[in-house]
Amino acid sequence: MSARCAHWIGAEQRYCEATEGVRLYLPGLACPLHTPSALAGKPEPQPGKGRLPGAWTTPSPISDSRVHDARAIASGKRRSSPHTYRAAQAAVDHKTN
Ligand SMILES: [Zn+2]
Repeated sequence: MSARCAHWIGAEQRYCEATEGVRLYLPGLACPLHTPSALAGKPEPQPGKGRLPGAWTTPSPISDSRVHDARAIASGKRRSSPHTYRAAQAAVDHKTN
């Protein structure tokens, strides 16, 4: 027994009973023509399109955070190897002079 669209077509005094593409929606089984969205005149919600493009990008450019990092290392607020510390100090000195 296959699923059938349970939408009542009032004008034709019958149930739709379409079997193609029938899925279970909140009100019950419905074919693509009679989904809640279709009946409301809205486009079907598309799965997998909820995330906006660029949602994972950070507001500040990478170069900005690198400069910030170098300053943190040079000031000793950020743990680093002596080599990185000197390189960061040189970078910050170069920028401030
Ligand atoms: Zn239908």
